[in-house]
Amino acid sequence: MLVVKGKSVFSGITMGPLALFHRNTVSTARRRIKDTDAEVERFQEARLASIEQLKDMYEKAVQKVGEEEAAVFEVHQMMLDDDDYIDNIVTLISQKKINAEAAVEETAQQFSEMFRSMDDAYMKERAADVLDISRRIQVQLCGGEANDFSAYDGVFLAADDLAPSETLQLDTDKILGFVTSGGSTNSHTAILARTLGITAVVNTGTQLHTDVEGKTVIVDGFTGTVYLDPDSATLDKMKKKQAEAEERKIRLEAYRGKESVTVDGYKVNVFANIGNPDNVPQALANDAEGIGLFRSEFLYLENATYPTEEQQFEAYKKTVEMMEGKTVVIRTLDIGADKKVDYFDLKAEENPAMGMRAIRICLTRPTLFKTQLRALCRASAYGKIAIMFPMIISVDEVRRSRELLKQVQNELRHEGIAFDESMEVGIMIETPAAALISDELAKEVDFFSIGSNDLTQYTLAIDRQQTDLDNFFNPHHPALLKLIEMTVKNGHKEGIWVGICGELGADLSLTEDFLRMGVDELSVSPPAVLPLREKIGSIDLSK
Ligand code: PEP
Ligand code: MG
Repeated sequence: MLVVKGKSVFSGITMGPLALFHRNTVSTARRRIKDTDAEVERFQEARLASIEQLKDMYEKAVQKVGEEEAAVFEVHQMMLDDDDYIDNIVTLISQKKINAEAAVEETAQQFSEMFRSMDDAYMKERAADVLDISRRIQVQLCGGEANDFSAYDGVFLAADDLAPSETLQLDTDKILGFVTSGGSTNSHTAILARTLGITAVVNTGTQLHTDVEGKTVIVDGFTGTVYLDPDSATLDKMKKKQAEAEERKIRLEAYRGKESVTVDGYKVNVFANIGNPDNVPQALANDAEGIGLFRSEFLYLENATYPTEEQQFEAYKKTVEMMEGKTVVIRTLDIGADKKVDYFDLKAEENPAMGMRAIRICLTRPTLFKTQLRALCRASAYGKIAIMFPMIISVDEVRRSRELLKQVQNELRHEGIAFDESMEVGIMIETPAAALISDELAKEVDFFSIGSNDLTQYTLAIDRQQTDLDNFFNPHHPALLKLIEMTVKNGHKEGIWVGICGELGADLSLTEDFLRMGVDELSVSPPAVLPLREKIGSIDLSK
């Protein structure tokens, strides 16, 4: 048995014979061309034929997965119309006097390398798209057929990587799933796999060779593990896990589109936590009723320098638009502690979890903070955004933060730029100080969201990064539950809503306790939404 570990894209257990994906080969060998005008013409014909092909694929994709996911084929059409891309190829043909296949290949490598070296995570992903569109032209030039995926039936596919267009051609009734040695969990391929519900593991770093073709493979999409030629103990274990997962999936479907409500009618909002706009489809696919925590610092972590107002505005706007009027709680920058970014130039600290982080950085660097607040306010004109400040320990911090927000809103009003005047402003309760003065803080804001991850670390004095303190760690410590209860009570006294967005919110053994405390919202990772709704539906608070 060979065990390969990768990154899980979509959970599920799949088993079956393994098939290696054989891509149709195209010849990109370099030839010398005399009639360069005719060669340019040949390239242009292949390019236009590729655009036509993509239009067709877009229409089919819209039917299959909806406009949002099909958009990749529109992007590919636009890329095929890009002047820089076309000029590069035409210049290579005309000046180097080489054949179109070779010119396309050289351009593809050049452009994909350029995208790969960019700091912006989104742009990095475009490297795969350039290779994809170039290959499409090359297939046209060689008079070749596109890959025939219908030949793969009842098999698990192994590939170096799959292009988004290839992923979309996978027939979910025939293909059991796929494993790729390359790829990333945020690529369009990964997003499509999630949308299509295909069990997938990417980035295993191990290229599978022909000697394993036809062998039985088990893919555990929950853990990102691939078992090749499994022994009978693994087979039995995985069959059991698969049966359980299937039963659970069927059971959970009954909760789709429903409210999260207890037997006796107590309604809770079940929202999802995300790190960037790419996670929104996952939240929607899991039927999240809103976004309870958008960790905006991920936009900073993915960048090599401060993301501009425009970059942030686009990311927030895209998110609220996708959520179509549902609440999106965006937390302002929570950099520091374990989330380090070089370009912030933060001093080395003995104890960074208790150092310069989150709101402390924002209040120390108001220009940086105001850039984010402007982007957030501008995006609020496109949906229902709520702003949330992290790591609060005092009323003064809230007032200073709100003052900066007010300044930004005044500037926008002055400039005639629209924003949501009634946007809610809340804070995270993730320090014992905030929980203990939550009666005062509740007078200052529209909502509380309890960050149990940090609240636990600061209450128990146990570093959340530390793994060897398990013997002392109790995630259900009564002190923590008391602080949560106190926060909910104090919030309600002032008529504001209180949610939990830390990992504890998904702990089903505490759901009933949280509901009895009166928690109004639970925000969890997308796959945890339906299990939580099911749990809520089984609780009767009247008993
Ligand atoms: C928390 O502390 O519980 C929280 C949600 O924030 P983060 O995990 O991002 O620190
Ligand atoms: Mg936190």
